Amino acid sequence: MRTISEQPDEDNATMDESDERTETDQPATESMAFDHDVVIVGGSAAGLAAGVFTARHGLETLVLRGGHTALLRCSLLENYLGLTNVDPADFLEVATEQARDAGCRVENRRVEQLRRNGVGFAVDTVDETITTRRVVAASGSENDYLEEIADGALYCGPATHDNLEYYVPCDDAGRTAVDGLYATGRLSGVEHQVLIAAGNGARVGLAVVRDSLRDAGLWDDLADHYHDWTVYPHRHDGWEIDDWLRERLPDDIDPDDDAVAERLAAYRERLEARTRTETEQADRLERGQELLEQYHDE
Ligand SMILES: Cc1cc2nc3c(=O)[nH]c(=O)nc-3n(C[C@H](O)[C@H](O)[C@H](O)COP(=O)(O)OP(=O)(O)OC[C@H]3O[C@@H](n4cnc5c(N)ncnc54)[C@H](O)[C@@H]3O)c2cc1C
Repeated sequence: MRTISEQPDEDNATMDESDERTETDQPATESMAFDHDVVIVGGSAAGLAAGVFTARHGLETLVLRGGHTALLRCSLLENYLGLTNVDPADFLEVATEQARDAGCRVENRRVEQLRRNGVGFAVDTVDETITTRRVVAASGSENDYLEEIADGALYCGPATHDNLEYYVPCDDAGRTAVDGLYATGRLSGVEHQVLIAAGNGARVGLAVVRDSLRDAGLWDDLADHYHDWTVYPHRHDGWEIDDWLRERLPDDIDPDDDAVAERLAAYRERLEARTRTETEQADRLERGQELLEQYHDE
């Protein structure tokens, strides 16, 4: 994946010749309607981190959890960066609130089965079937609900003492062989630490957002530029944003075409929405302090 720096004068990106998204007609969005944009199976370090990123982008995100949680088996979290010697149950509670603040719905419900449903998925829980365009599997050592999807291609047997290779095969960004299905955290085979599971969840959340942007007709160079950053007021003063956007279009795309201009305008709006006013910053700082204080509550 390409890395593109934020400011034009720092830009070290080159166009990827394999960029195939050149059409200017309607974006390749799915025609089906789903209950959610993303369902995340598992609401611990990896799943909640992924949800923070998808929900902050505005994707309707449902986190379902109900099953074994390795996080709650730690004695104290001594090795989490910037937050040391905390009770894992407190950590989970604060992380859950953070995900909710970001816009996730988090529900305690176990997923029984995952099935393909058009270009999306049907997620069977004990009492309801939920439809979604994308699924992030973040269920730690539990994978039985994946047993039937893709003719078992993603299922490597139950996690037991004899089978420590139960991970779901996926690329670095969590994409599996099934379009729209991602894996993250322990289930994807990353190292067995909370900090790493959370970091991996964030990476997979970003991949989900970027793929959604592609679905909405954005070209690779712009979709891959999405970083979920926020910036101080005036950070973008002097940035010729329209020129910057046009430079990132494939050569055969006409920036003055109405459909193209519309997509660029939507992306521009997103970039501008990253700037936080001083009041917004103060409000968020206060909420951040409030969450941190929960670590001291008895
Ligand atoms: C005994 C022990 C001690 C540890 N100590 C430390 C430590 O000190 N420091 C450290 O960094 N790491 C420690 N670890 C490792 C760490 O806990 C894991 O690497 C980390 O929790 C993995 O995060 P995860 O989100 O991938 O999975 P998990 O934390 O296992 O979370 C899995 C989530 O999936 C949900 N789930 C499972 N199945 C389903 C289903 N069918 N439907 C819906 N939801 C489902 C669960 O409810 C849970 O929310 C320890 C692990 C163990 C076992």
